[in-house]
Amino acid sequence: MDKKGTVLSGMRPTGALHLGNYFGALENWIRLQDKYNCYFFVADYHALTTGYENTDDYKDNITNLLVDWLAAGLDPEKCTFFVQSCIKEHAELHLLFSMNLPLSWLYRCPTYKDQLTQLKDKNIATYGFLGYPCLMATDILMYKADFVPVGEDQLPHLEITREIARRFNYLYKSEVFPEPQPLLTKAKVLPGLDGRKMSKSYNNTIALSDSPDVVRKKIMSMVTDPARIHKTDPGHPEVCSVFSYHKLFSEDQVAEIEHDCRNGKIGCVACKKKLADNIAELLTPIYERRQQWLKRTDDIKDIIIEGNKKARMKAEETMAEVRRVMKIDWI
Ligand code: SF4
Repeated sequence: MDKKGTVLSGMRPTGALHLGNYFGALENWIRLQDKYNCYFFVADYHALTTGYENTDDYKDNITNLLVDWLAAGLDPEKCTFFVQSCIKEHAELHLLFSMNLPLSWLYRCPTYKDQLTQLKDKNIATYGFLGYPCLMATDILMYKADFVPVGEDQLPHLEITREIARRFNYLYKSEVFPEPQPLLTKAKVLPGLDGRKMSKSYNNTIALSDSPDVVRKKIMSMVTDPARIHKTDPGHPEVCSVFSYHKLFSEDQVAEIEHDCRNGKIGCVACKKKLADNIAELLTPIYERRQQWLKRTDDIKDIIIEGNKKARMKAEETMAEVRRVMKIDWI
């Protein structure tokens, strides 16, 4: 094992990252880059599993994702960024794994049926979509990751990866693939502006690319406790999304806000202004760095070329081993 241990994680390039993505993954990645040998990749093949029909925004989405990562604080000096489709070995290993992967493992994957029902408007009854846990295993095992940051709900996916590694090692009497361990992270959950799950499809997000003015306007339009009409009405912070945000952004003021809300001592407008100021402390520097990175697209390309090079070296090494133990290295 690498002295620091290798961590691998990826994100689909499907549009602007929002605060839910920041607290759900990115904030954790920024911490991990100081402790581990991290590979962070743009999961563009994965984006095709559900979005193959329209790839018009494909390239822009990749650039925007990288800009978001850099602006948020991921540092290419500390970790390796790469784009999945640039490392063709992923396609080869995915194919080889698919040869011996029992279909029952894929059908029992909890998200499979779930997504089929949730994404009814898309035709995803496809070979590629069913096989996405195989693609995920490919990404992780290619780099022999020791750890994968996951939430509890993603543990079954990682278990399939571990089974695929075990099955490969058993079939080809080898120890090519270590079984990756979960790096359990309790993601901080941030509801959307309307209290539902934060999601682009609900149009209730705060994007990392939103300007400070837009963020302020969005906060000021948030729905609060509907029972509060006058400032002096006692409030119920537990039903108010503004309060859920305060828990994350105003840690040292949250007890006071709760007390003042329950006792009718603070109005919702003042409460939202406080929140907008605290969110601006986090988001304004990210927004400003974003504007700078947007002017440096050539530098971003260089970062990716460099990262791809490092990733490819590791992938070629792994594939040479795979072909050797499978005895398909006849030339
Ligand atoms: S005072 Fe703040 S926490 Fe209380 S209902 Fe209004 S916005 Fe929500």
